[in-house]
Amino acid sequence: MLANIPVSNLKGIGEKIENDLQTMGIETVEDLLFYFPFRYDVHEIKPLTELEHHEKATLVGKVISEPSLTFYGRKKSRLMVTLEIDQIAVKAVFFNQAFVKKHLKQGELITVIGKWDQHRLQITVSQFKKGQVKEKDTIQPVYSLKGKVSLGFLRKTMRQALQSYKNQIDEILPESFLTNYKLPPREEALTQMHFPGNGHRLKHAKRRFIYEELLLFQLKMQWLRKQKREATMGNAIKVDSEQTNAFVDSLPFSLTNAQQNVLKEILNDLKQPYRMNRLLQGDVGSGKTVVAAIGLYATISAGKQGALMVPTEILAEQHHESLQELFGDQAEVVLLTGSVKGKKRREVLHKIETNEAQIVVGTHALIQDDVFFHDLGFVIVDEQHRFGVEQRRALRDKGLHPDVLFMTATPIPRTLAISSFGDMDVSVIDEMPAGRKPVETYWVKENMLKRVLRFIYKEIQNGHQAYVICPLVEESDKLDIQNAVDLHQQLEEIFPDDVNVGLMHGRLHSDEKDDVMKSFAENEIDVLVSTTVVEVGVNVPNATLMLIYDAERFGLSQLHQLRGRVGRGDAQSYCILLADPKGETGKERMRIMSETNDGFELSEHDLKLRGPGDFFGKKQSGLPEFKVADLVQDYRALETARKDAVEIIESGKLFDDSSYQKMKRIIEDDPFIKGQVLD
Ligand code: ADP
Ligand code: MG
Repeated sequence: MLANIPVSNLKGIGEKIENDLQTMGIETVEDLLFYFPFRYDVHEIKPLTELEHHEKATLVGKVISEPSLTFYGRKKSRLMVTLEIDQIAVKAVFFNQAFVKKHLKQGELITVIGKWDQHRLQITVSQFKKGQVKEKDTIQPVYSLKGKVSLGFLRKTMRQALQSYKNQIDEILPESFLTNYKLPPREEALTQMHFPGNGHRLKHAKRRFIYEELLLFQLKMQWLRKQKREATMGNAIKVDSEQTNAFVDSLPFSLTNAQQNVLKEILNDLKQPYRMNRLLQGDVGSGKTVVAAIGLYATISAGKQGALMVPTEILAEQHHESLQELFGDQAEVVLLTGSVKGKKRREVLHKIETNEAQIVVGTHALIQDDVFFHDLGFVIVDEQHRFGVEQRRALRDKGLHPDVLFMTATPIPRTLAISSFGDMDVSVIDEMPAGRKPVETYWVKENMLKRVLRFIYKEIQNGHQAYVICPLVEESDKLDIQNAVDLHQQLEEIFPDDVNVGLMHGRLHSDEKDDVMKSFAENEIDVLVSTTVVEVGVNVPNATLMLIYDAERFGLSQLHQLRGRVGRGDAQSYCILLADPKGETGKERMRIMSETNDGFELSEHDLKLRGPGDFFGKKQSGLPEFKVADLVQDYRALETARKDAVEIIESGKLFDDSSYQKMKRIIEDDPFIKGQVLD
């Protein structure tokens, strides 16, 4: 195997070079062959008339003058010759390349690459070749090099490796993949990566390795997923379909298609004997909670308990109320948060333990040590990105093997969802219930502020409420709070006395925060000045307007998340972005925000504007490094690879079919796979 042949077996590799290669990550012949160029310079030969001043150009011309060489200073020289190109006389100038002189013979063709001077019709040559350049030499691989490893040396060694070990470059993809996707064989593709014959062949070579890389990556993910699933057998919930359907029919509306599909997936997971590990994504208001509630209903129809865990007390209270209303006397729903204390708490705990309560809604108080469930079958975690892995695990450990559904209203671009949650199943609700009025979003500059405030006042006089999101000071929670305090004071002065202005920020005690939110929910506060703490799913349908200061400082996804606080009732809602972005990207973001209400579209834009590393914040991303693939650009290939990987794993081909044996070995040998501890 090439992975076992040290690179020093090749000719011309001494100890020094061997060390330098090692710092480049090249120890074996395989490492060398897969040390791909990070870029290709393409030297297209254009007619002189199409060249731009100072462009790096490749020219082929006939030598029509004697070269003239002048020396100046120490070791400095200037060589000049006249070429005829397209019947025009062009001067070629070579600095400090006196040796070229002997190659310049009148009447012969030469190729020069260099900087074009449009005014003088002159090229300052950096590379020179005798004769007319062949097409393949117009594409030049650029590698990152270290120490004594020069481009010339690397190319020579690469050529040698390709020639000597040609026969050992194994195809790892089954034949049918090459045919179906029109991919070049591995050996041919490898050669093209290093010595491209032409642009077309290089493109296909890259396509092959992008697919190969993504397929292997997805196979690993799917393999893990399968193993996790098999390691956690034992919770097949006997859903009473008739009863569940009747419940769905009793809802005051019919489910959207997207909701129906997702419900099917969830119910199916519940019935299966493996543990559900599913992420449900959908914009705010798309109806996730309703679907989750049906899942809870199905769980209790089978005699098991269900739990809903949310990030804040006020959300827990809201969900507790709405679920109790939804289930009526068919289930007892209890609330368990930090503020449920003393006798009340003991009562609730008793009900949970004895199955008197079938549904528990709460914050992470749900996972404290003194909470014992009778038979926990299904757990829903809302706004999952707010919870740490530890908390999730602790919650899961409460029951035997509860199915777990994570819900989030922060849409994650599909490519990232596939990659970072590749070992989870992902469901998406990408459709809003009919009749919903989209939030109208406007981007305004500071000079419009007076008008905006008048508009807010008008909404309040019409009985509505507004959020005002404070200016954001990067990296400083403290200053953000100061901003909130200042803005609160200003608005109290600006608005007439009948307007009640509230204040909310992260430094408030959680009781205080809850009090403020409650007063807002009960319409005692008209305008709520807040930092971004208000972001999470609180429902105040009477709030119809949100003003966001310094909107250019927020990411698209966060703006969208904030905007989701309004537009929850029947009245038309508005979101006003106060922003004066300096750069194009900032302007682009404001435009996108005012043009679309679709969270997925926004998240895709966000990904493009910020890049995958930034999207989750660096720590969280957990994305693997890819050699050739690019998650943003190659998302189609990623989707295909994922689909194929699922099929290969689920059908068992990877394990039984000998044409998959080589891929299987690569996956088994992967240190990440070997080191995975199943939880
Ligand atoms: P999410 O959890 O995704 O934010 P919810 O499930 O809370 O959304 O639904 C938001 C609102 O829309 C709720 O008042 C809910 O009753 C209502 N709703 C959900 N699904 C539908 C539907 N298919 N048709 C009409 N209204 C719906
Ligand atoms: Mg919700």
